[in-house]
Amino acid sequence: RDPAAAPGRPYRLGVMGGTFDPIHHGHLVAASEVASRYDLDEVVFVPTGQPWQKSHKKVSSAEDRYLMTVIATASNPRFSVSRVDIDRDGPTYTVDTLRDLRDERGDDVDLFFITGADALAQILTWRDVQKLFDLAHFVGCTRPGVELHAPTIAELPPERITLMEVPALAISSTGCRERVTARQPIWYLVPDGIVQYIAKRGLYLL
Ligand code: ATP
Ligand code: MG
Repeated sequence: RDPAAAPGRPYRLGVMGGTFDPIHHGHLVAASEVASRYDLDEVVFVPTGQPWQKSHKKVSSAEDRYLMTVIATASNPRFSVSRVDIDRDGPTYTVDTLRDLRDERGDDVDLFFITGADALAQILTWRDVQKLFDLAHFVGCTRPGVELHAPTIAELPPERITLMEVPALAISSTGCRERVTARQPIWYLVPDGIVQYIAKRGLYLL
């Protein structure tokens, strides 16, 4: 709990879940934009455990993804990283992430779950959807090339969801991995420390 946070109002905690394989500047810009717009005291990045919606794909180890997330966020005093999802056994469900963070941080915390528009469009496929909205406000960041389907949004409680445009960053982890595999540069798509960590560990070379 940051003692410099504004007194007399609940602590405002952003939650950015993701596979982060690797973390890139799209994630960081989105978190920074939402933090500024919603006056968040902190944004906690939460790397997933074994990603259940991506279990058909090969995903880097939780430890590599955790360390990359730490490296990328270390210089920002309002960014932090949580191990709740990688330390929990089994697949990651957002409802568990939010419950664990609430247990850890106490009741006097407002949670803002930050997600890309693509992930938000799938929200109705998530487990315990109605509980999710009791636990957090959802902020969907628009992303280049991803259309938000209005019917999906219309089914969701409007007071618990906001859509927000972030500067157009056509960066994805998939694109970064493919570039590394093709021996193309990823400088400036990800923080310098991430370029160096990926090279050091030989990630995505196949
Ligand atoms: P992958 O290509 O492997 O799916 P990704 O780039 O989508 O990776 P994730 O770790 O899956 O990264 O994303 C975590 C969250 O960040 C998701 O909610 C996703 O929608 C969002 N996100 C990813 N890239 C961007 C971007 N460029 N701008 C805004 N949000 C993004
Ligand atoms: Mg994705």
